[in-house]
Amino acid sequence: MDTRYITSAAKPEQLPEYEQPELAFVGRSNTGKSSLLNALLGRRNLARHGRTPGQTQMINFFSVNNKVILADLPGYGYNIARRDAAKHWQPMVDVYVRRPNITWFLCLHDCRRDFQEIDERLMFMLGRQLPIVLVLTKIDKLSRNEMKKRRQKLLARLDEIGVEYRHVMETSSMKNQGIKELRNLVLEPYLKDED
Ligand code: GDP
Repeated sequence: MDTRYITSAAKPEQLPEYEQPELAFVGRSNTGKSSLLNALLGRRNLARHGRTPGQTQMINFFSVNNKVILADLPGYGYNIARRDAAKHWQPMVDVYVRRPNITWFLCLHDCRRDFQEIDERLMFMLGRQLPIVLVLTKIDKLSRNEMKKRRQKLLARLDEIGVEYRHVMETSSMKNQGIKELRNLVLEPYLKDED
């Protein structure tokens, strides 16, 4: 896979336009998004742009084999609580989600945690555009039985609040679990040759 960093956007007007299908990766800070992107792409250190503390929160765009665009949205959570970040993050995401070439919203979530209000609001908003893919991360931290219970609880909550999801993937970047399955679901279909 030939993955290249293309550009970053810090404001809505900087969002580039692409014809290729686009995968949007969304998640709270520390959820394991960088690790997952690197595992998915077989890279060691791809998603590090704009992560210097204090730097403006940006959406980073990558291309894979020139056929798929991958958008890494800024991790939210404790950052967004700061007024400054909230001011920039929300308008940017509001505009971003309407991009017509997005094929999947991949919502990453640490399998050990309950959803917080901000996760729920975001997933609801994304799910109104397209059914989301819920990607549970760090599954190596739980036993199979615990995982089953967590999954049931989280999905029950999504149903309760009316978030439309199409797939639920269980992953561990550390143990390389569920990575191939995720790649086969969201990436491989677009990397095949046209004929
Ligand atoms: P990001 O802030 O969402 O990009 O998260 P990172 O990929 O930087 O990971 C945050 C922390 O979680 C780091 O300490 C990682 O080592 C750890 N981490 C990431 N993926 C996994 C995983 O699959 N399993 C475990 N146990 N830890 C992980």
